Amino acid sequence: MILIDNATLVLPDRVIPRGTVRIDGDRIVEVALPSLEGKEPAPSASLGAEPTVARGEPHIIDGTHKILLPGLVNAHTHLEQTFMRGYSAGRALLDWLKNCIWKLQAAMDADDVRLAVTLGLVEAVRGGATTIVDHHKITWGGGRGRSTHSDVVLEAAERFGVRFVLARAWADRGANAESPAAILADLERLFDAWPGPAGGRIRVANGPLAPWRCSAETLQRTTELARRRGGLNHCHMNETQDEVALALRETGMRPVEWFGSLGLLGPDFQAVHGVWLSDQEIKLLAKNNVTLVHCPAANMLLASGVAPIARLSSSTGRAQGIRLALATDGPASNDGQDMFETMRLAAYLQRVSTLNAQAMAPRQVIDMATQGGAIAPGAKADLVLVDLNAAHIQPVGDVLASLVYNARGSDVDAVIVDGRILVEGKRVLGLDEGALLDECRDRARYLVRRAGL
Ligand SMILES: [Zn+2]
Repeated sequence: MILIDNATLVLPDRVIPRGTVRIDGDRIVEVALPSLEGKEPAPSASLGAEPTVARGEPHIIDGTHKILLPGLVNAHTHLEQTFMRGYSAGRALLDWLKNCIWKLQAAMDADDVRLAVTLGLVEAVRGGATTIVDHHKITWGGGRGRSTHSDVVLEAAERFGVRFVLARAWADRGANAESPAAILADLERLFDAWPGPAGGRIRVANGPLAPWRCSAETLQRTTELARRRGGLNHCHMNETQDEVALALRETGMRPVEWFGSLGLLGPDFQAVHGVWLSDQEIKLLAKNNVTLVHCPAANMLLASGVAPIARLSSSTGRAQGIRLALATDGPASNDGQDMFETMRLAAYLQRVSTLNAQAMAPRQVIDMATQGGAIAPGAKADLVLVDLNAAHIQPVGDVLASLVYNARGSDVDAVIVDGRILVEGKRVLGLDEGALLDECRDRARYLVRRAGL
């Protein structure tokens, strides 16, 4: 039993000061709000007959001067890139991929992947993420025992305690292409090993890298497989103008149109970036209830462009049916995993590009980042507690504005996933962070030498 006491609660429709949240097992069982007289908090709602009766002493977390909000969902990253920060400077997407990222990926062994991902997980939860969608690119290898690189990542996430989707990346065209048979067999194997939604924290998804890296047939067969296994489909889409031009040359269609013609779009499809979308493509995404994952920092760093998020998140846009999510993208194209920074950049970028200071209100940005997570009895206990007691935040006028414009990942005081405390008092539990940093420093230096950069 965990009791978070006296915190400001971000509820779906309002913000409540001095609330108390009780967690039992993996769920929130009670949310108590202060009485109107400001005396003892009164239970507002509870689950079951006697959920408030403590079985043993609860673990109490003091929420004074802190905001409790639903856990943040980082809907697209590549955690193995944690060892690849800082190489993007001055390079556009394709140059950066060919001359840095692919060389470093090719040189990584299973130990590098495990360490880079663990370091990335530490950074991600410190930045407020409770759920991470990892579009994992280094799937080959597996020389050590039975583990492939994908298994190393899944095991690291399982041990660490986050909610995690591994979108198994693949390409059957161009650099590092795999055979369709190998891709399908490995996806099938992963779905068997990590059966997913039935209450598990860890899920597998089909992760084609990008339209120009994939053949129509393998796209269709892998999507069919993922649908049969209840998995998601996750792909970079329309990130740069070059990619759109390439698709037009090769298929006579823009990327989203091509995917639509292949039957790949649906509520199980997550389109990452969507920077360069035609009106027709927006209609297709909406009609199929696709999730569009916005990565503002990566789009700015790689000079890809500005995704039309303000338009899509306006009331008319929401009515169109596109679901919006937020993400950092990989540490190599960001260079960090801070979801608070991501929220702030999302708001700023839409405002300056639309010349509208009212674009992307704080509540809209928080809704994108929390993806329907709630502080309510019966909800999964995935929560983030943010410390407001800092010079760059005080005084607080509007709580939601403070969260989006002032708070930083370093203000995250506690993180709870599935009812388990991963971070408390700004310390990651169950891990020697200093030793991890030392080990990662050495390994990353060695990796860059091996890759010949
Ligand atoms: Zn990406």
